[in-house]
Amino acid sequence: MSTIPELFGSLVFDDKVMRARLSSDVYHSLRDTINKGKKLDLSVANAVAAAMCDWAVENGATHFTHWFQPLTGITAEKHDSFITPAPDSHVIVEFSGRNLITGEPDASSFPSGGLRATFEARGYTAWDPTSYAFIKEKTLCIPTAFCSYGGEALDKKTPLLRSMEALNRQAMRILTLFGHADVKRVVTNTGPEQEYFLIDRDMYLKRRDLIYTGRTLFGAPAPKGQELDDHYFGAIKPRVKAFMEELDEELWKLGIYAKTEHNEVAPCQHELAPIFTTTNIASDHNQLTMEIMKKVARKHGLVCLLHEKPFAGVNGSGKHNNWSIATDKGVNLLSPGETPYENAQFLVFLVAVIKAVDEYQGLLRMSAASAGNDHRLGANEAPPAVVSMFLGDELTAVLDAIESDSPYEGTEKKRLRLGADVLPRFNRDTTDRNRTSPFAFTGNKFEFRMVGSNDSISAANTMINSAVAEALCQFADRLENCEGDFDSCLHDLIRDTVRKHKRILFNGNGYDDAWIHEAVEVRGLKNLRTTPDALQMVLDPENIRMLTKHRVYSETEIRSRYEISMENYVRTVRIEALTMVDMARKEILPAVVRWCGELSRTLNEKKAADPDLPCSYEKKQVRRLSELIDAIDDAAAVLENSINTLGGADITERAFCIRDEVLGRMEALRRLCDEAETVTAASFWPFPTYGDLLFGV
Ligand code: ADP
Ligand code: MG
Repeated sequence: MSTIPELFGSLVFDDKVMRARLSSDVYHSLRDTINKGKKLDLSVANAVAAAMCDWAVENGATHFTHWFQPLTGITAEKHDSFITPAPDSHVIVEFSGRNLITGEPDASSFPSGGLRATFEARGYTAWDPTSYAFIKEKTLCIPTAFCSYGGEALDKKTPLLRSMEALNRQAMRILTLFGHADVKRVVTNTGPEQEYFLIDRDMYLKRRDLIYTGRTLFGAPAPKGQELDDHYFGAIKPRVKAFMEELDEELWKLGIYAKTEHNEVAPCQHELAPIFTTTNIASDHNQLTMEIMKKVARKHGLVCLLHEKPFAGVNGSGKHNNWSIATDKGVNLLSPGETPYENAQFLVFLVAVIKAVDEYQGLLRMSAASAGNDHRLGANEAPPAVVSMFLGDELTAVLDAIESDSPYEGTEKKRLRLGADVLPRFNRDTTDRNRTSPFAFTGNKFEFRMVGSNDSISAANTMINSAVAEALCQFADRLENCEGDFDSCLHDLIRDTVRKHKRILFNGNGYDDAWIHEAVEVRGLKNLRTTPDALQMVLDPENIRMLTKHRVYSETEIRSRYEISMENYVRTVRIEALTMVDMARKEILPAVVRWCGELSRTLNEKKAADPDLPCSYEKKQVRRLSELIDAIDDAAAVLENSINTLGGADITERAFCIRDEVLGRMEALRRLCDEAETVTAASFWPFPTYGDLLFGV
């Protein structure tokens, strides 16, 4: 077996490989494209393609694909062989610069939200040279963006790249004001922590709700849940350990820096954290991580559940999106600095994020909205549906002092003068930080905790980047026109921003009902509890203005994405409802009827043997079971009917009907079936229970 350093990135066409295999000229033009976004000319592309093809074939690849993130939520690939027929029934290995740069998958089978009329079904993929190509299952995968022929983005990566560009443009204006002539580019970095469940595959295959929907639609609570907290950071079981080891190796080969893996709070729940990297690469890596988790789990007789809420009453899974801004010189702009000047600059970026989160809270909430995540946000485990920010006591005290022009109560009591004074050292100890906050400052980065475990991180980062770009743009407009002393202008800007947006800051317990009340009633923050509410935020005129101004989305793209997301919501819940009806009728009712029949037969036999026996247990159970059987049958019919007659003139109305009518009826059917489970003999129950699933690995 090879060593970890040998293994790491061994299937990636990364900088090391490029340097070794490309001529110096070609290498440097490619680097200019990667680092500075310079256009790539075809001769360079041809040379890169030839080297990439040789390398891929030497490493066992036979096919290549443009790999992209369509709006379906998973990644897509269309494999082409490297081999092209040649005369005399020979074949030649061929992979040109054109093959590398663009592809033409048939776009008609990917969602476009009406962007593409069917007669114009063509779309094209375009190489993203900033994300390295890699080999997966004998296929050279080329990370690409996916657009329609009209140039509209049909994927999640294009807007993300545009938002990174927008943030770069605006952040550079601020850095210029601070005199950083050396900085050429600003990027965002992301480290997404991924939560997941592992369950036994044989049990999984017996649950059609898991197979069709990724979550359990029925299931009475097990006698033991997560209350003992004995799983969190507990010893990892051998089977899970073997899975984690293989997963690490597979990820390392692809250059994904999987770093820590530990058990989470819920039984059979785990977490994987990679080391952060540039956001678009982090997004590609996270998609790959999810795919490989599922694949490796199968090899160990396990199934990896990425759904946000696989089990009712047990913690769900999220994806903590750690996010920061850095210069091409590697300086983290969200890190408090050593000198007064660096501190002032840090505060500008910090308050830009505060302003962005306050003004575009709806967009942030929207970026994490999905049918699955609705079960999580607001339950007692994930952040609430209200977006707020946690800064910690020390930083809050600094901002308070600036806001009120009063002395900062640090180690020594003094007035803080920006540009002249050094900020106090913030305690970087993150052990007691607030886990309930949706958007928390953790020393030198922000952690956005709303994203669902199954979601791509692209939308969330696109919205964060765009909102911060807008805040920085307004700051730059103001500071560039500053008359007089720059430090005073800076001070006023920071003070005014804190005054205006401090309502978004909250260091307390986000799970507390009193907070939700205060947030909504006193502070006027948005409480968007469900996906249909949250998705509508993107149609808000101010949000459309901001996103189009920074060229992150066109208005047509925004509207088409809105339709797709609403449609996804409706489809997801519809499949869940139909699965419930099916399981209730074909599995649960027959089981309960059989158990009821068994009891009736026993009752009759006992009565026949001795008419004086009371048989009160059997009588009571038969009555209760008969009632439940009828009630389940009725509830299934009501649910089926509400799906079949789903009203609504358009997708928005249909989504609200689903939310307001169907979800309640699903809940009603579930309650009855879960009750039936508790009064039916275990040997009669048709599929594995919560206890079996949660403690079965
Ligand atoms: P935690 O206590 O939350 O587990 P970690 O230090 O393990 O904190 O970091 C969590 C995630 O944040 C990791 O994926 C890590 O790579 C990422 N991270 C750390 N620093 C940054 C940064 N400057 N920008 C973006 N992500 C970061
Ligand atoms: Mg963490």
